[in-house]
This record gives sequence, structure tokens and C-alpha cells, in this order.
Amino acid sequence: MLFALCSFEKEDIMRMILLGAPGAGKGTIAKLLTDYDGSVQISTGDILRGAVKAGTELGKKAQGYMERGDLVPDSLIMDIMESRLQETDCKKGFILDGFPRTIPQADALKKLLEKLKLRLDLVVNLDVPRAVILDRLTTRRTCSNPSCQEIYNIKSKPPTPDGKCKKCGSPVIQRADETEEAITKRLETYNEKTAPLIQYYQKERILKNISSTSSEEIFKHIQEALKGK
Ligand SMILES: [Zn+2]
Repeated sequence: MLFALCSFEKEDIMRMILLGAPGAGKGTIAKLLTDYDGSVQISTGDILRGAVKAGTELGKKAQGYMERGDLVPDSLIMDIMESRLQETDCKKGFILDGFPRTIPQADALKKLLEKLKLRLDLVVNLDVPRAVILDRLTTRRTCSNPSCQEIYNIKSKPPTPDGKCKKCGSPVIQRADETEEAITKRLETYNEKTAPLIQYYQKERILKNISSTSSEEIFKHIQEALKGK
């Protein structure tokens, strides 16, 4: 009995939120963490698509909004989140990536976690300089073939000299949302809507700000922060 209790307490279940502007590297960090501890990465886009695909009642509702090109309302996102967080794969912990996006969503999430009796361990803010983000995203190129979509980078992983995909030979293009103008706009939206969450979680004393551009270094900082929990 005592042994069981000890091993339970030693079990490292991590529930965290990753904050950071587009291009800050949330996806890369989430993958490092989930590979490490078996937790699962949850993004709003993924769970909406999942619910639609599974044809659940909530999924059908979400599909209606998406097909009309409307934003899925927060209340519906929270309902889908509630069922998602109770799935078996979340028992080893989860990383919320790109959610919450606004203060009202953060409030709703707080209530939901209380209801589900789940503790949030850490909120990590990836603080990457704007110049680095602009450079990362404006140098990205994507294969135009919809069934290939290989990602290139004109600095670190260039396509062929005449701008073709090395895998399928199709033209490699710059996505419309990855031009300097589009990225500047995405960063503005982020600063306006999402950056206030940094203060929100600072007040909750759960925020870890990490200023680094190296994934290995960020990963180490997160592990240290979790050890202190
Ligand atoms: Zn291709």
C-alpha cells in the first residue's frame, strides 16, 4: 500500500500550456516534450477537426460554423475541450498548444480544469525576438503539390536552384500567410489578443518565461521548471 502510494506520487504527470507567437517554435517544443514523457499535444484546430471527423454531436455543431466560414464559439470549443481532456491518452498529461488564445478562454479553461479536478502545472511562454520570428517564417517555402507539401527554407533547406521540390518536382512557393506583410499582421493580432495571457498566468504564479531560440535549451528549462513543482 505504502509502495503504491509512493510510486503514484513519483509519477510525473505534466499538464501545461504553451504560449508564444506564431513561429516561436511551439510545435517543435511540444513534440520534444510528448516524445519524452508520453503526454499528448492538444491544439484547438486538431480537436475541432477530430470531433468533426468522428461525427460526434459537438463535431456536427462545429462543422456547421466551419462550413459557413464562421468562428467556432468559445462555449462549443470548451465543450469539445471538456470531452477531449477526459480521453485516455490525456492520463499521462497534456500540452495545450495555441489554446487559450484570449482571456475569456483562459477563464473558461480555469473553470473547466477545476470541474475536472485537474491541476495545471506550468504555463510556458516562448519569448522569441520578433526579428527571429520574421526571419524564420519569411524564409519558409512550401511545395505547391497538395499531396506533397514538403517544407523548405531558403537558408537552411533550399529547393532545387530553379525553385522546384526535391521530392516531387513541383514548384516551391511562399505561402500567402508567410509573407512579411501577413506575418506582421499575425504578430499584431497575437500581441493584442494573446499576449495579455502572459500577465494573466503571471498573476496565477504559474508562468515560466523562456527567452531562447534553441529547442534543446528550451526543453531543458522546461524540465527544470517542472522539477520545481
Ligand atoms: Zn513536393
